[in-house]
Amino acid sequence: MICAVTDNKLSIEKSDPGRRGLHAKNPLRAKANVPANLRRKAAPRLPELSEFDVVRHFTRLSRLNFSVDTHFYPLGSCTMKYNPRFNEEAAALEGFSGLHPLAHDVCAQGTLELIHDLSARLVELCGLDAITLQPAAGAHSEFTGLLLAKAYFENKGEARTEIVVPDSAHGTNPATASMMGFTTVNIASKPDGRLDVAELKKHIGPKTAVLMLTVPNTLGIFESNIEEICRVVHEAGALVYMDGANLNALIGMVKPGDLGIDMMHLNFHKTFSTPHGGGGPGAGAIVCRAHLAPFLPVPTVKKEGGKFASDFGDGKSIGKVKAFFGNTGVLVKAYAYMLAHSADELGDIARYSIINANYIRALLKDLYPSYSSEYCMHECVLTPGKDMLDKGLKTLDVAKGLIDRGFHAPTIYFPLIVHEAIMIEPTETESKETLDEFAAAMKDVHDSGVADPQSLKDAPVTLPVKRLDEVQAARQPNLRW
Ligand SMILES: *Cc1c(COP(=O)(O)O)cnc(C)c1O
Repeated sequence: MICAVTDNKLSIEKSDPGRRGLHAKNPLRAKANVPANLRRKAAPRLPELSEFDVVRHFTRLSRLNFSVDTHFYPLGSCTMKYNPRFNEEAAALEGFSGLHPLAHDVCAQGTLELIHDLSARLVELCGLDAITLQPAAGAHSEFTGLLLAKAYFENKGEARTEIVVPDSAHGTNPATASMMGFTTVNIASKPDGRLDVAELKKHIGPKTAVLMLTVPNTLGIFESNIEEICRVVHEAGALVYMDGANLNALIGMVKPGDLGIDMMHLNFHKTFSTPHGGGGPGAGAIVCRAHLAPFLPVPTVKKEGGKFASDFGDGKSIGKVKAFFGNTGVLVKAYAYMLAHSADELGDIARYSIINANYIRALLKDLYPSYSSEYCMHECVLTPGKDMLDKGLKTLDVAKGLIDRGFHAPTIYFPLIVHEAIMIEPTETESKETLDEFAAAMKDVHDSGVADPQSLKDAPVTLPVKRLDEVQAARQPNLRW
């Protein structure tokens, strides 16, 4: 539960001139080292506080947050799973963390070998031929993937201008397409979120460059027609891009390359346990077939005569999408995670995430009906039951009620094709006990909401910030509380 708030002043309001922390005599900080013309004319307006005040201030703020280390965090599609501390230890090893980005290949053999081996393992897991680890996240990987497609078609002398995206796609897919200057062609999914092959056939043709397809789709359901879909797209001369952000549902069980796709992206902060956002920079990857490999960003790493070396390709590359080899610290974490699993255990990641999602779905089925009647993969999409909707209760009320019960809210109102969607991704790292506690909280939200709807409309009541006027919060944010 969130700690009680006894103090809501800003650090600048607590400032008391003259207060400060202990100061080691650091010659680098001495004024004399800064040329006079570069020195400030007036002291900066910073809060003057004792060190203890600062520590308390920030520790208190940090405890107002929900995080994977403190709370169950069932944010669908985001895969908020445990980040093993072992990953951090590996990335902090002096040989990796202390390496200068401009070090010559001969001085960076360990890091180059790691990139080479991680690349080979990911290519094998995906059943494809080549990879870049340069992108900094999933969306950046999508951008890189479409750059590859553009270069591929330019090289063939074909002008293709359209990207086909189902209406169930993650928002980054159409956003990437439009950033690249392509026209997005939206196609309606079937009610189960699967791509409608008849619709696809109507919208695909000589202008189509790429179909972007999320697998499993955003309803947590496998695209069972994927082989036929790939055939249809290839017959039109276009490429299939698989949004593989949620490879955690397939890893070790299916090689996406075997399904017929041309390229896919990976999100290391989802499938490979590296921290999201606040944990530092991210990493993604594009894994592709041989026909796209010449266009990959450079450098990649090659092995020659037992040594590892930067490979700058043969001039067809799209160039760089990130400096050097990307965020290599994150790659070390993902590599540590891969090595900590045997080939069989990698399959367990997918198996356990699927079991956990279906367990939640089964526990809640009488109160929060599942959108799809099928078993789900790593996540399930539910909605409030008729008894709640009849009392005017909405998904937003469920989310706010969960916060009062010590749980981060699931993803809500996504996918857009589901009215009042609640998208829950428990991940494979949660125990049965945690899932039971979460289901009990969902039941309590239901029961107290149906008995007294206003109590749920008022939630959250345990946080410093109560129910916000969301429109005003977006238009005129009040950043003080
Ligand atoms: C998370 C996600 C993305 C975007 O990935 P980022 O790393 O957040 O940029 C794209 N598609 C799907 C399906 C996702 O779940």
